[in-house]
Amino acid sequence: MERKKENNYFHQLSKLRRRPLVIAGPCSAETRGQVMETARQLKDLQVDIFRAGVWKPRSKPGTFEGVGTEGMKWLQEVRQEYGMPVATEVARPHHIETALKHNIDVLWIGARTTVNPFAVQELAEALRGTHLPVMVKNPVSPDLSLWAGAVERLWGAGLQDVAAIHRGFSSYEVSQYRNVPLWQIPIQLKGLYPDLPVVVDPSHIGGKPDLILPISQAGLDLNFDGVMIETHLNPTEALSDADQQITPEALGDILAKLQVRSLPD
Ligand code: PEP
Ligand code: MN
Repeated sequence: MERKKENNYFHQLSKLRRRPLVIAGPCSAETRGQVMETARQLKDLQVDIFRAGVWKPRSKPGTFEGVGTEGMKWLQEVRQEYGMPVATEVARPHHIETALKHNIDVLWIGARTTVNPFAVQELAEALRGTHLPVMVKNPVSPDLSLWAGAVERLWGAGLQDVAAIHRGFSSYEVSQYRNVPLWQIPIQLKGLYPDLPVVVDPSHIGGKPDLILPISQAGLDLNFDGVMIETHLNPTEALSDADQQITPEALGDILAKLQVRSLPD
């Protein structure tokens, strides 16, 4: 099949909804109860894809590194109970193998993996022949080539359903952001590959609840294809990214306030 936007999984899902995509869920799957109750509330908000990390690439050891394979069963349950596609982060070929066994619908490659072409190539090889939809976060460093290169490695392995996620870039600048947006980089990526859907992740860019609405709106005003927002039942108690997660209720308020263009038929 030709690599056209119209054939792309993410584009098709968005077209079905006639609006940009909404991907939401906790930073990390923590317990079965947390995952199922979050999914129930997000389903009511018409979230398109449920996200939850089970293998967490934490900068420092000694912090919560995810529940691992057990979390796969919870995601599978979300998919069966609520009919929402489920997404998780993969960083190693064995993560892909496990995700495939559990019928995970969508995978993403995290910012700490996109920086490493060897790692990305290994993932691309493990994905060859699977036709899974995959989202590629930008690398932590502001390097357009590394991001574009990761997308190309997936295309090179025969994957058609690829999207990019803009999650901001590490910086020593004093800034209101956790990761500076440097919008020119995702805009350049869109310029290079006009058929590649690009989703904005205001949670990791902003690092705090107050910035989620303005960053999401900025992304949609720039014609990005959707948002990915971290959502937790009790954000202050979250085992990862507690400062930036918002409740499903707060997500509902934000979605109601977003000025969203409706897509033509
Ligand atoms: C995440 O999405 O929870 C995550 C770890 O993000 P990033 O790879 O963008 O840091
Ligand atoms: Mn996170």
